[in-house]
Amino acid sequence: MAKTKEQRRQARLTQKLTRLAHFTAALAVHVVHGMPKASEEMIQQRFAICQGCVHFSGNSCRVCDCGIDKEKHLLNKLFWKDQHCPDNPSRW
Ligand code: SF4
Repeated sequence: MAKTKEQRRQARLTQKLTRLAHFTAALAVHVVHGMPKASEEMIQQRFAICQGCVHFSGNSCRVCDCGIDKEKHLLNKLFWKDQHCPDNPSRW
């Protein structure tokens, strides 16, 4: 059965709130750990793994909905040393 316009709107809102919750949790962990930065080599390795992953959408991860971009330094988990791939098992 096709979703109504209201159901689609609610699904988009739920997705945005879920993404915000995931990112807020990751940010909290990052701040608690002293905001360690990943090395350039680590960033490149992580990005290469994401590019070959079935959950990679081209600019984000479909598991956690967080942005995956090797150019954007702000609000990007690839650049945060203390972060991990959310897949089970983790890919990086
Ligand atoms: S599941 Fe892991 S490897 Fe795959 S896109 Fe997300 S963060 Fe990258």
